[in-house]
Amino acid sequence: MKSISLLTFFLLLSGCASVKHPVNLGEAKENVRDYYESGAFENECSNVVDGAIKFLESKSFNETACAVFDIDETVLSNYKYTKDLGFGYTQSSWDEWQQKGISPAIKASRRLYNYLLSKKIHIIFLTGRELKYFEATKNNLINAGFTKFDSLIVRAAGEEKIPAAEFKSDKRKALVNKGFNIVASVGDQESDFYDGNTGYIIRIPNYLYLLD
Ligand SMILES: [Mg+2]
Repeated sequence: MKSISLLTFFLLLSGCASVKHPVNLGEAKENVRDYYESGAFENECSNVVDGAIKFLESKSFNETACAVFDIDETVLSNYKYTKDLGFGYTQSSWDEWQQKGISPAIKASRRLYNYLLSKKIHIIFLTGRELKYFEATKNNLINAGFTKFDSLIVRAAGEEKIPAAEFKSDKRKALVNKGFNIVASVGDQESDFYDGNTGYIIRIPNYLYLLD
């Protein structure tokens, strides 16, 4: 009888030990806020960019070379938008935010962009944003210091429902078919790098949301 109760006790104990408790939501939000507002986030981005420039510095590029940049949480930060919503998201507030076009640059990404421009590499912005936000997005990029680029590719009419990974890989394929040599892709989500034609992958950290 005693051995059965001991066995039950250990089984219960091992059962308890396997429960993975999540971080308290309030604490998680506070951690994210501190990370972004203390400068730690920008430092991490800067380290990523330093590594990328070091790698790219050893390469030579011809006139077909291009780099593909995602926009949200890659070159533009929507930290203020998500924080103002208590680290949340709604479609309608997100639509309004895109239309405002006031997202600031992620400075390290702008440094990478300027480096690539100095190497005469074509710059392509490729975003899952929709056509109705094209002008606002273009103006936002320019106001944030991304003044020169070959094209800004958004979702055209009829492309709204295509999953981000597929949409972006199709557009990269089309760029290659046009004769571009994609030497680097810069993004913050797995879907920015899906299915090849990426060149060197540069992933900007994002602790605000995960899309894939
Ligand atoms: Mg993004």
